[in-house]
Amino acid sequence: MPKPKKIPKTVYFNIDHDTNNIHHVSAWYGIVVVALVLAAGSVTNYFLTNLPEALTVADLERYPVAFIAERAWDNLKSFTDLGPRVAGSKANDELAVGIFKREIETIQATKHVNQEVIMENQVVTGAFNFTFYGSSMTTIYRNVQNIVVKLKGKSDDALLLNCHFDTVPSSPGASDDVASCAVMLEILRVMSRLPDENRHSIIFLFNGAEETLLQASHGFITQHKWAKDVKAFLNLESAGSGGKEVLFQTGPNSPWMIDAYAKSVRHPFAQAMAEELFHTKLIPSDTDFRIFRDYGNIPGMDLAHFLHGYRYHTKYDSLDYLSLPVLQRTGDNVLALTREMANSEHLSANNAEPGSNTVFFDFLGLFFVKYSMRVATLINATVALLAVLIPYLGLSAAAGNQANKAIRTEALYGFSSVLLGALLSVTTCAAIARQLEALDRVMTWYSNTWLILGIYCAPALASHCLMQMFFNAFFKNKKSTLSTGMITQARLIGVNLFWSMISLCFTFAGLRSAYIFMVLQMCSLASTIPTVVGGLQRTVRKWIFLHLSVQFIAIVCSSFYYIIFVNLFVPITGRSGTVVNPDTIIGIVAAIGVLLSCSYLLPLLRLVKQPLKITASFSAVSLVALLLACCTPIGFPYRDASNANPTTQRHLVTHTFRLFHDELGLLRHMDQGFLFEVQDQNGGRTLQEYIVSDDSFVPVEKMDTCTNEFFCGIPFDAMWRQAHFKHFWQPAQGPPETHNMFTLAYEETNQLSEQLRRIRFKAEGSLQSAIFIGTKPGVELVAWSLHEFIPPPVTFNGQEGYFAYITHGVPSGPWNITMDFATSANHEGFLAEMGVVTKYWEYHEMYTEEFKQLLQKFPSWAHVVPSVAVVNMLTL
Ligand SMILES: [Zn+2]
Repeated sequence: MPKPKKIPKTVYFNIDHDTNNIHHVSAWYGIVVVALVLAAGSVTNYFLTNLPEALTVADLERYPVAFIAERAWDNLKSFTDLGPRVAGSKANDELAVGIFKREIETIQATKHVNQEVIMENQVVTGAFNFTFYGSSMTTIYRNVQNIVVKLKGKSDDALLLNCHFDTVPSSPGASDDVASCAVMLEILRVMSRLPDENRHSIIFLFNGAEETLLQASHGFITQHKWAKDVKAFLNLESAGSGGKEVLFQTGPNSPWMIDAYAKSVRHPFAQAMAEELFHTKLIPSDTDFRIFRDYGNIPGMDLAHFLHGYRYHTKYDSLDYLSLPVLQRTGDNVLALTREMANSEHLSANNAEPGSNTVFFDFLGLFFVKYSMRVATLINATVALLAVLIPYLGLSAAAGNQANKAIRTEALYGFSSVLLGALLSVTTCAAIARQLEALDRVMTWYSNTWLILGIYCAPALASHCLMQMFFNAFFKNKKSTLSTGMITQARLIGVNLFWSMISLCFTFAGLRSAYIFMVLQMCSLASTIPTVVGGLQRTVRKWIFLHLSVQFIAIVCSSFYYIIFVNLFVPITGRSGTVVNPDTIIGIVAAIGVLLSCSYLLPLLRLVKQPLKITASFSAVSLVALLLACCTPIGFPYRDASNANPTTQRHLVTHTFRLFHDELGLLRHMDQGFLFEVQDQNGGRTLQEYIVSDDSFVPVEKMDTCTNEFFCGIPFDAMWRQAHFKHFWQPAQGPPETHNMFTLAYEETNQLSEQLRRIRFKAEGSLQSAIFIGTKPGVELVAWSLHEFIPPPVTFNGQEGYFAYITHGVPSGPWNITMDFATSANHEGFLAEMGVVTKYWEYHEMYTEEFKQLLQKFPSWAHVVPSVAVVNMLTL
């Protein structure tokens, strides 16, 4: 007997056009869509990380005026060989400065006869008030250095190129930022050998004190004789190591610079979104851009490497993790941009156009788009309108006018399901983040960022799917004549409505980032228009294939933002302090990434026969990822150098010596201890596990001296660190070795008037130092010689005080400091308390045995920055 022909259970695409309520495709198609998203992400990742081939000296004959990465690399190596170069150290202020002088002298000797190269070594002293994370201070620099080189043009008006060669302690600072200096040296070399003089001069500023709160750039822009000639600047920075440099800040009010970038740069990577993100202050960094803009009133562009931010400010920011192609790419771009700007008629025109913001972005580095905000408003509004209107009119024409109401209803369901799905996914991610924090399992994705896909993206997707299923189950129009395919298309109109509203909100709030949503809508239109024109709405599969193919491009665009955000924010959680749960930050990033990438795929769930299967698979993926994260070594956040990409936990440890003096200047108490600063959520636990031996280890706020000493007598060199990071204290057996301390010796008191006293001190010593001062009730600090103005007070442990941060470059002689105190008529007793801090960085040879042993206790995946400090507490 012949076997009866099996009737397939699942009817795929060959169903009748107008059949209602038949689910078309099997749940396996969900996997196809997930594969589509992952493939798009891989394409994006490729374009984000691929670099051009590097040129070597052997290529010189073929490309005589090109940027040669190998020469820049040789310079870079000679700087990183010096090790960490903290401002004021021999490595920075003697050896690095020496290398610059020699290199520039060689450039002068090999330049073209038509070119003029002038070098100056600026040694500069100054001060300014500075606010970082809401905490004010006066920052003072004494004898910090700049190497300034002018490549003379036909006019004195100049383009400034800026980099810094100093580093934070314990880091060779290859990417941050001496690679930029090496790139600038090579640009100078290439441009000095060109036969034609540029239209404008170019000033190369190699600055020697940036990590000390942007001081050397301030010294240049406020005091150097060439500063007044600077009309625009390019600042080359790094908050990572390797990869592509991104243009992330520009202006103010100078669209001509974006034009120059668009015209000249060969490998563009620039996002107006990055600028707006930077201005939210979510990124704990600042650059010299701020100094040139605020103190020089000059427009400019900020370019930085940001990939592999784990290495930023650690020992791993070394040559080992950089490559010639990284220099080649940045060099090609900056050389082209420099030539363009230095020969632009706009440079000296000073034609600032107030309020003229430019929207700009690149597409995978392949091409660059820019237009003014005015044009953006027009584009965004038009696209927002068309993205809703065209599919609506098209569907209405296909289904007949009587179906209009049903289409509108379905569109509203589509809108609501995406909106509520977004809210549910954020809530779910936040709940998981909270739970992981409660389980003491935060930052499990820190090394393996793919875990984020499972821990947060999958549940975010499951939330969206649940919301779609909810709408499919409970918001059905039984009388509707629309086919399932048309209902799905109507719901997609709702998705467009959702993005239209967001795009318009952004646009009318003046936010340029609205282009992100506009591009998504453009992609949707790119499939909707042929669907409408070709009358494909009633087909079963054609419109879906069209929709999915264009969505591939849309997902390439949106996954780009996900990948950038993950690469940016994951390393930042390693130094963003303990105030916010890092899992919450990443959970929200994941939920946003899912919404951007998948919103146009979600309504297709209606076409799936068993949507629960898909939702359940996402939940299962999430569960597996959570298990891996919480119960296996995969979820351990940190990796040491045995891993190709070390991801470390950051620690600062300060062996501290404290001396407390009474109003007669006599010593009333002294002690010593270790001050620990942890920069991420897990840092405290590491100290408990590896370092602490007894219960004398306490949070700084619980120290005995916190009840009776000003600012707890802690050697802070900046008060924002206190607000940002958690600090612990453990008594030490012995004091550190100290020499050449920074001292503030009392000289005399002058009664300026009945209620105004001036105290004069003599400051001596050339080490990194800080002064904090708090007045007694009825006393006011009205002036000091450190700066024209006194900054607003900072608060710590319920006390208010003033903070001065002092950097010394080339050693200087003694200097006088005066402070004027106004007292109330009946004031008696002393005036103020003052802490004088000396900080010894890169002081390894002087560490005590006890300190060395303590440092050895840290695990290999910790990056520990040790230092020694002395606090002298004085009573005035
Ligand atoms: Zn830097």
